[in-house]
Amino acid sequence: MSCLFCKIIEGSIPSTPVFQDEVCYAFADIHPQAPVHVLVAPRQHITSVDQAVEDDQKLLGHLLWAGAQIAKTKGLWKGYRLVVNTGEDGGQTVDHLHVHLVGGRSLTWPPG
Ligand code: AMP
Ligand code: ZN
Repeated sequence: MSCLFCKIIEGSIPSTPVFQDEVCYAFADIHPQAPVHVLVAPRQHITSVDQAVEDDQKLLGHLLWAGAQIAKTKGLWKGYRLVVNTGEDGGQTVDHLHVHLVGGRSLTWPPG
């Protein structure tokens, strides 16, 4: 198994845990782009949202739900962003599906 995030989820590569349950594992991004930058990844290896199948719909919703719960625990009452970079043009660099929770500062739009 060569997937970086699978190794983080199984614990063979260290990470800073933020939230976890039977479906997902959330941990601090190693290169934070904002005061709060957390990655929410499914325990199951799915390469990207583009590779998700019909049976993954509940899992996909769970990742967003978890991101919103973490935002509450981090006090992001002014708002935040949940982002799923997908594929080369989408800027995805780790091929294990994850949702970025970014917040704690005013975020600009559109993204680069
Ligand atoms: P993406 O570019 O959307 O695929 O996001 C991958 C994210 O993983 C980037 O924000 C990286 O900073 C982050 N990252 C890479 N390696 C690690 C690691 N070992 N621990 C935590 N975050 C990581
Ligand atoms: Zn993986």
